[in-house]
Amino acid sequence: MDQHTNSDQPPSEASLLPHARFTLVLLLTVGFFACNDRQEFKPLKSAGITPADSMVKPVAAAPAKPAKKKKKIYLTFDDGPNLGTPNVLHIVREEQIPVTFFVIGEHTAASRLQQATWDSLRNLPLAELCNHSYSHAWRNRYNKFYASPDSVVKDFDQTREMLQLDNHIARTPGRNAWRIDSLKFTDNAKSRTAVDSLQQAGYTVVGWDLEWHFNPKTLNVTADADQLVRQIDTLFARNRTKRPDNLVILAHDQAYRGTPDTIELRKLIRKIKQNDNYEFAVVSSYPGVPQKPAPR
Ligand SMILES: [Zn+2]
Repeated sequence: MDQHTNSDQPPSEASLLPHARFTLVLLLTVGFFACNDRQEFKPLKSAGITPADSMVKPVAAAPAKPAKKKKKIYLTFDDGPNLGTPNVLHIVREEQIPVTFFVIGEHTAASRLQQATWDSLRNLPLAELCNHSYSHAWRNRYNKFYASPDSVVKDFDQTREMLQLDNHIARTPGRNAWRIDSLKFTDNAKSRTAVDSLQQAGYTVVGWDLEWHFNPKTLNVTADADQLVRQIDTLFARNRTKRPDNLVILAHDQAYRGTPDTIELRKLIRKIKQNDNYEFAVVSSYPGVPQKPAPR
């Protein structure tokens, strides 16, 4: 009864209190989020952006920088296969760099180890294989060898046929000679006619710009990797290579039979790899070298 009576009377102040509290909480909550919204979305001007700027505009792509043209270094190894060749091959495989081997025909079949090394050379795509004659100038009898141009051509032909080389790139034993289109150079005048004969027979003859010398008695290299790098930098800087921005290094497999020399070879390779101005290349990509064997 009391309940009924109370419901007919106007609500007391005390009974209104929970509703008022709820309304107050609701208003405060809405106000809080409204304030927060204003903070999140600052006026564009106060952020230093005008409304026009805020519109998405097509942005012109920055012109692509032309790829930096690197200077090319052709690392070449002469006289293999021999006792140093497996170490060179091991490093080439690990460092994944292209190199060129000028092989001696006679050496590819001189022993079981050399035969096996020759097989490894043939099966390494990073290795380009070129001709360093069959007998290495009749086993280093240079003057007699080069005095007989026809015999010189025959000696190179023997290796090309025996090894079924897919190029006509040759390097003359003991002579720094070049015959690449108009590039003609012979360090020893007595060999000139013989080298000309090789070119007439279709060979491209490639010498070197820098030799990594070794002691003929100990077979150890006579300069370390740092010295070689300095020589490379200087030759490029002074434009002292046969063709600008291209440098051919002559090294000899047999100098890398032992650990200390092998370490220097790896050092040299890594220093060149780390230099952003340089890159390794194989001799067949040297400027002017014909891409296909010259017709005979
Ligand atoms: Zn040689």
